[in-house]
Amino acid sequence: MKKNSDFKFIIIIIVLLVLAVLGTLQLVNKKQSTLQETSTTADSTTQTTEAPVSVIDNSITEPSTTEPTTQVPTETSATEPSSVPDTSTEAVTNPETGRLIVEVNDSNWQLVVVNGTREFPSTYKPELDEIFDTGKYLDARVAPHYEEMYTAAKQDGIILTPYSAYRSYERQKNNYNHLTETYMADYNLSREEAAKKAATVILPPGTSEHNLGLCMDICNVYDSFVNQKEYTWLTENAYRYGFILRYPKGKEDVTGIVFEPWHWRYVGVEWAKQIRDSGLCLEEFLDMQGIAY
Ligand SMILES: [Zn+2]
Repeated sequence: MKKNSDFKFIIIIIVLLVLAVLGTLQLVNKKQSTLQETSTTADSTTQTTEAPVSVIDNSITEPSTTEPTTQVPTETSATEPSSVPDTSTEAVTNPETGRLIVEVNDSNWQLVVVNGTREFPSTYKPELDEIFDTGKYLDARVAPHYEEMYTAAKQDGIILTPYSAYRSYERQKNNYNHLTETYMADYNLSREEAAKKAATVILPPGTSEHNLGLCMDICNVYDSFVNQKEYTWLTENAYRYGFILRYPKGKEDVTGIVFEPWHWRYVGVEWAKQIRDSGLCLEEFLDMQGIAY
């Protein structure tokens, strides 16, 4: 019996020991799991804090990325309307010539400027009227003023013979192209070089006021015209009839054309007086007045 009770006691102790070991193991497991839990909660908290940060980041970056994109369209849409009127009326360039294409209309025809950097469209055709029975034509709005001036000068013993009046765009183009091709052959130049050289003799089509019917070469096209009484009369009286000396001496850098005492351009009586009084050429006068052209 004693052996049996001893054996029982030993078994109880073993069981207790096993239980104790299991108990400590459970405790360790619990600790580890709580540690894991805290670490996961810590992770989750960092994740949730990261998430708001990333949300904040997004909310910061999103508007900042959307701001420029929204700003870009508004900027272009803001600049477009203000630049559109300019481009539609002024800044259209002829890709072949590199010159601005200048529309001629009822409101700007008197002061319209064509020169080395500006040309009118080939489609523009002025309505013409003959100067007496000379076979010379001007814009129908200008012809009566030339006749009036001619009549007034005649009374002073001055004959303002129409020498070169309106020339069609097509004729100007043919003359210009013919001279360009002559230069290409004669001087072995490229078309571009020859065209540049030809432009010093014949104005390219669309850049001559003769194509607009707004001007007259009077009597002749000799430099000596400056010494003739007809020139003197014109300098004193042409403005009364709306005509100005378009290419004055000393303004060659502005007009791009040498002094032409014979070339008189109609701008209207009011403008002609102001331009004459200013001593400026047409381009300078319009610049000074802030008149867009
Ligand atoms: Zn001329």
